[in-house]
Amino acid sequence: MKSITGTPVTPGVVIGRAFVLEEVLQRVPYHTVKQEDIADELWRFNTSVEEAVAELEADRARVAESLGPEPAKIFEFHIGLLQDRTLLEPIRKRVEEEAVTASYAVAEAFRSLADQFKEMGSEVFRQKANDVLDLDRRVLSKLVGRSRDRLAKIDEPVIVVSHDLTPAQAASLDVRKIIGLATDAGGRTSHTSIVVGALGIPVVVGCQRISTEVEDGDRIIIDGIEGKVIIQPDDETLSRYSEFVARFEREQAVLKRQVSLEPITRDGTHINLMGNIEFAAEIEGLLANGGEGVGLFRTEFLYLTRGKPPSEEEHFEEYKQAIELLDGRPLTIRTMDLGADKYTQQQAEEPERNPMLGLRSIRYCLQNLPMFKIQLRALMRASALGPIRIMFPLISTAMELRKSKMILQDVMDELTDEGIDFDASVVTGIMIEVPSAALMASVFAQEVSFFSIGTNDLIQYTLAVDRGNERVASLYTGAHPAVIQLVKAVIRSAKKFNIETSICGEIAGEALFTMLMIGLGLRTLSLVPSQIPHVKRVIRAVDVPQCERLARKVGSFDSERKVLKCLRDELEKVLPDVEADGPHSNSSG
Ligand code: PEP
Ligand code: MG
Repeated sequence: MKSITGTPVTPGVVIGRAFVLEEVLQRVPYHTVKQEDIADELWRFNTSVEEAVAELEADRARVAESLGPEPAKIFEFHIGLLQDRTLLEPIRKRVEEEAVTASYAVAEAFRSLADQFKEMGSEVFRQKANDVLDLDRRVLSKLVGRSRDRLAKIDEPVIVVSHDLTPAQAASLDVRKIIGLATDAGGRTSHTSIVVGALGIPVVVGCQRISTEVEDGDRIIIDGIEGKVIIQPDDETLSRYSEFVARFEREQAVLKRQVSLEPITRDGTHINLMGNIEFAAEIEGLLANGGEGVGLFRTEFLYLTRGKPPSEEEHFEEYKQAIELLDGRPLTIRTMDLGADKYTQQQAEEPERNPMLGLRSIRYCLQNLPMFKIQLRALMRASALGPIRIMFPLISTAMELRKSKMILQDVMDELTDEGIDFDASVVTGIMIEVPSAALMASVFAQEVSFFSIGTNDLIQYTLAVDRGNERVASLYTGAHPAVIQLVKAVIRSAKKFNIETSICGEIAGEALFTMLMIGLGLRTLSLVPSQIPHVKRVIRAVDVPQCERLARKVGSFDSERKVLKCLRDELEKVLPDVEADGPHSNSSG
C-alpha cells in the first residue's frame, strides 16, 4: 500500500480500479500491462506504427506534388526507419517478454537511437537524431490516441489517473464511465479542476507522481476530502474507507433534503445561491441542487469543445437553451475568458512566455474584435428571450471596461440597423479578479451595475501564486489576510455606490468560508452546483450578527493560518458533526 498526497478538488471518496491515461511526455514512465493484455498492447503498437507510416506517405505524396520528387525524398529516412525490423523487433520483444507498455518500449528504443546519432558529433547526425525524436513523438501520439480510444470503449467504471488534462479534455470525460480522477499536475482552482469538479466525482489533483506510481488495473482510493490517493490499500484501510463511503452516502441523503429548504439565516436573511456552469446542460443539475439561477456562465467552454470557434448561431442556441431551462431565473453570462490555460496557447504560432499575465480574457477579446463581436451579437439577440446580465472578465483598467461597453453599444447599433430584437436595457457588470480592479472598485462601481468577485484569479494575482501549479499549491489560499482585505474593499465600494456584489470564485462553494462571506456583507454566492446543499446547511445554522463578529475577528489576524483555524473552530461550533467526520476519524493513526 502507498499513499500519495495531492490537492482535493471535490469532496467524496471512491474506491475502484485505475485506468492510466497516457500522455506524450518528456519522460515516459515505466509501466507494465497484465499478461492477458500483452496481445492488445502489441496490436496497439503495430497499428500505431502503420498509421504513422501512412501519415508520412501522405506527407511524401503531398510534398512530391507541390515541390517535386527530390524534396519528397526527405521522408524516405523516416518511413524506412519505421519499417526497420532491427528497430521494431526489440520493441515487440520487450512488450512480449517484459510486459512493458508499448509507449515505454518505443520511447526507450527511439530515444536511445537518437542519443547514438547525437554522439556521432556531426551536424548531419544531429539532424538524424531530431528526425528520430520526431518519429518517437509521432508513434507515441498515436499510442496515446489509442489509450483515449480504449477509455471510450471500456464498459466498467474506472478511476482515471493521468499526468495532466487540459480543460477541453476534462470537459469531454464521460462520467458514466469515470468515477474518480487523480492527476500529477494542477491546483484546486485550475480550470481543469473546475470542470472535473462540475462532474461531481471525487478528484485529487497535484499528486506530482501518481501517474508513474499507479499501474493500470490497480485498486486505488481517491480521498477527495483529505486530498489523498491510496494505491493498493491493505484490508484495514479498505474497510475503513468502505465504511466511510457508506457514511458519506447517508450524509448525502441528508443533504438532499436541504434542496427544498430556503437558504435563509436563522435571523431571516436570504442568501442567494447561484450556480457556476460551463454548459447550459448543467442547469438541470443546478436546479436539482437548489440553485436559484446562474451567477457565472463560463462561455469559453463553447470554444474548448470544438475544433473551431463557435458561430453566432451556435452561441445563440446555447444561450437560448440556458434561458429556457432557467425559465425566468437570473442568468449572468460571462463573455469568453480565453487564454492562459484555455485555448489560445494551442492556437498561437508562438506560445506566450507568461500566459497567466498575457493576452488572456478581455484583453484577448479586445484584440480579436470580430470574434468578440460574434459572441456579443449572440448575447444581445438572446437578451430578447429572457433576463440576462453580461459580465466582462479580468478587467484591470477603466479603459478596458469602457472599450468593452463601446463595442457592446456598436453591436446594439448594428442589430437596430438590421431590425433584430434585443433588450436595450441589458445589465452589464465586471468580474473583480485583479488587485488593480479591487483597489479601483469605487471607480468601476460608477460605471457598471454589478460586481462579481472572482477569487480564483484574485488570489493568484494578489499572492503571486499560479493557481494551476501543484508545486506552489500550499501557498494558494483565500484565507490570506491580503485577499480578505481586497474582498472587503470591493464590497465597501459596491455598497457606497449601491451596486450588487457577489462572489463566484471557488471559495463561494467552500462551507468553511460561508460565515465569513456573509459577515463581510455578501448576500449572493455563485458556486459549483454540487456544493449548494453544503453551503445552505451552514447558512441555515447561523445568524448575521454572529457572522459579522467572525468577520471582524478574522480581519484582525495577520496570517492565513490564524484565519483558517478561526474559520474551522467557528464552523465546528455551528455544525459540530460536519468537519470532524472524515475517513480518518476512527483511525488510530
Ligand atoms: C475566478 O477567477 O474566480 C473565476 C470565477 O473565474 P475562472 O475560475 O473561470 O477564472
Ligand atoms: Mg477568473
